Amino acid sequence: MARLDAYRSKRRFDKTPEPQGGLAATDDAIFVIQKHRASHLHYDLRLQVGDTLRSWAVPEGPCLDPKVRRFAKQVEDHPLDYASFEGRIPAGQYGAGEVIVWDQGTWVTTADAEAALENGELKFRLAGEKLSGGWMLKRLPDDPTNWLLIKERDIAVRPLAEYDVLVERPDSVLSSKRVAEAAKPRKAVKPAKAEKIAGARKADMPAKWKPQLAGQADLPPKGGEWLHEIKFDGYRTLAFINAGKVRLITRNGLEWTKRYAPLDKAFLKLGCETAIIDGEIAVQDVRGVTVLSDLEAALST
Ligand code: MN
Repeated sequence: MARLDAYRSKRRFDKTPEPQGGLAATDDAIFVIQKHRASHLHYDLRLQVGDTLRSWAVPEGPCLDPKVRRFAKQVEDHPLDYASFEGRIPAGQYGAGEVIVWDQGTWVTTADAEAALENGELKFRLAGEKLSGGWMLKRLPDDPTNWLLIKERDIAVRPLAEYDVLVERPDSVLSSKRVAEAAKPRKAVKPAKAEKIAGARKADMPAKWKPQLAGQADLPPKGGEWLHEIKFDGYRTLAFINAGKVRLITRNGLEWTKRYAPLDKAFLKLGCETAIIDGEIAVQDVRGVTVLSDLEAALST
């Protein structure tokens, strides 16, 4: 793995808890963004291409506003096992400081990733917990390691004036870790007390729930009390979260928790004790469109 020579030459693996590398590539290309409190706070974007993670240090972090272009310095490739690394790189070692996994998921491109990076423009889609939709990395003319990270226009766009994902979601997606930083303290969201909601009364967690189903109509309803929502092409599913356990139930009441594994684990990260979540499990293609046959293929394997 000659592509990891630079990574290994900068580190002393008897001194740092970072991985040496050795994981083999799997089918879905992964991405990770690590928040790294080194001499300066920055965000390391890493995209799996083949057996390594191509890496860029983004000093100001990613932004969901397409008008905001963030400088991204390409750095040495990292090993695949680096994607789950969180911890403290000891003082005196390369990149000394705290690292958390700020976002992770999979990424796709319709281009040949190697060639696109060689040519200095890669358009890709992220499916992470915080970042999703279309993005672009564009090389600057002055230096082959100088790039811009730009959000593409799609439904995942949020104007920076309204929402800064770095401020709203500062923590690790793997643990409750937060990199120490001089950020404004966030207001804690207190869960609503059931007895304070008008008409609410305490009850045991129901074992079943019949979801409301859509019906056909010739015309949309009149009046201002209606919302439109996208029709996702997947399977309607109810997630029952109770005391650290998750059950995924079809609209007809069948238990599909095992069939959907490991999706059940994702619901545990929501941090609620009890909840019933009514939604649609779907697979998106590279355009972000849900495709039922892709979901069926994913379930059959
Ligand atoms: Mn870094």
